[in-house]
Amino acid sequence: MNSEEKRLHEECGVFGIYGSEEAANICYYGLHSLQHRGQEGCGIVSAKDGQLRYIKGPGLVNTVFSERNLATLEGNISIGQVLYTTAGSGEVTENIQPIVFHHGTGDFAISYNGKLVNAHRLRKYLEDKGSLFLTSSDCELIANLIKKDAAQAHVDRIHAIMEALNMVEGAFAFLIMTPKRIYACRDKHGLKPLSLGRLKDGSWVVSSETCAFEVIGAEYVRDVEPGEVISIDHHGIRSNHFSSYKHFNMCSMEYIYFARPDSDIDGCNVHTFRKESGKLLYKEAPVDADIVIGVPDSSLSAAIGYSEASGIPYEIGLVKSKYVARTFIQPSQSMREKGVRMKLSAVRSIVGGKRVVMVDDSIVRGTTSKRIVTLLKEAGATEVHVRIASPAMKHPCYYGVDTSTEEELISAHKSVEEVRQYIDADSLAFLSPESLMASGCRKEMCMACFDGKYPTDLYLVDEDASLYKRYQKNK
Ligand code: SF4
Repeated sequence: MNSEEKRLHEECGVFGIYGSEEAANICYYGLHSLQHRGQEGCGIVSAKDGQLRYIKGPGLVNTVFSERNLATLEGNISIGQVLYTTAGSGEVTENIQPIVFHHGTGDFAISYNGKLVNAHRLRKYLEDKGSLFLTSSDCELIANLIKKDAAQAHVDRIHAIMEALNMVEGAFAFLIMTPKRIYACRDKHGLKPLSLGRLKDGSWVVSSETCAFEVIGAEYVRDVEPGEVISIDHHGIRSNHFSSYKHFNMCSMEYIYFARPDSDIDGCNVHTFRKESGKLLYKEAPVDADIVIGVPDSSLSAAIGYSEASGIPYEIGLVKSKYVARTFIQPSQSMREKGVRMKLSAVRSIVGGKRVVMVDDSIVRGTTSKRIVTLLKEAGATEVHVRIASPAMKHPCYYGVDTSTEEELISAHKSVEEVRQYIDADSLAFLSPESLMASGCRKEMCMACFDGKYPTDLYLVDEDASLYKRYQKNK
C-alpha cells in the first residue's frame, strides 16, 4: 500500500473444525467471515487417512477456493487462515498458511495469527542447534521449537507444544493440526482473540472471531483462555495451561478497528464497545453541529454513539464502495487521488451546507483524515469537526499490527492543535485512555500504541532499541 493511504491493517484470521465430514467446506465459510482480517492470501488443510492435504494461494477466499477444489480436501478435520503480511515479512506466497511441516514423527500444520517479540533470540538458539529456516515467519520458528528434541519422539506432542509455548514471548493465537487432532493456543497476555464454538452435530470449531460462528450456525462455547492450549479430538476437548501467568490484555485495536461489529471479544460485543466509546467521546468533546457522520465501516458504531449522546442526528455522509479492494497499484499521485475517491465518496445532498461532526476510529499518518475532511468540504460542509474514538497514537506496535513506525505516526510529533491544522478540521479531539478502557468495562487491555505501556518485554535489537529508548526519554 502506498504511503499516502496507509491505515491500520488487520493481522490474519484463523479457523478450525473437528468432527464434521464437511470440514473443509465449513472452514471455507469460516474463513469467508474472517476475510476482513486479511485479504492477501488464504489456505485450508484437511486430513484423511493420516494424510494432510492443502490448498492455498494469494487472493480472497472466494477466488482461491471453488466447489471443485474444496471437494478434494476430504476428511473430518480442517484448519485455515486468511493472511495479511506485515512489511518486511517476506513474500506473500511463502507466508500463506496453513504451513504443512513434514517430520518423521508425524506431519502437522500451523495456522498462525500474531507476532513473537523474542523471535530473533529463539532463531539464533535453534540455528546454533542445527535448525535451518526457509522463511522469516514465526510459524516456522514455532514448528522448529516443537520439534527441537526430535529424539523425544515418544513424548506426547502436547508436552512438546507446551514447552515451545513457554519459550516464546509475544502476541499469538494459533492452531496446530495433526491428522487426528487440533491444538488451539493463545498467548498468556491475552493479546489476540480466539474462541471455541460447537455445531449442532457436535463438531468443535475454533475461530479468531465469533462472527464466524453465526455464519456456520455454531454456538459460542467459550474463549480459549490466555496461556491455554485446548486439544480437540475424538475425546472431545481437553484443556492444558502452559503458564500460570494469565492476563487479559486484549489488543484494544481489535475493538476500535479490526474486529467485525458482530463479534464478541472477551465477552464484550464490538459494536457495543464502539458505540459506548462514541458516547464517552461526546461527553469529553461535545460540539455544536447539524449532523454526525462516521467514516465507514469501523467508525459507524462510534458515530451512532456520539449521535445518541448528543442528540445530533446521525447521517450517512460518506459512502464506501464495497468493490474496490485496494488502490496501491496506481502509479501517479493524481491516479492515487482518483483511487481514494473511488473508495470513499461524500454525499453532497447530506453534508452540503451542514456543520458536520466526523467520527473516525483513529489517526495514523493523518493523510487519510486530511483527504476525508477535504472531500467533505468540497461537498459543501460548512464546518468539519473531527472526533476520534481512540487516544492519539504515538507508539509503534511490536505485536504484529502494522501501525507504522514512530516517524510515520503524526501524533508522535505533533500536538492535537498541530494535527488539527494539518488535517484542516475546524476542531479535533481524541478519546481519553480512561474512556477507552471504560467503553468495554474492562480492567485490562493493551493500549501500548497510545500510552507506550507494553504488556510484555520487547527484546528490541539495534535500531528498534535505540528508537524505543528515545520514546521513553521523550515521554
Ligand atoms: S500496541 Fe496497539 S495495536 Fe499493538 S497489540 Fe497493543 S493495542 Fe494492539
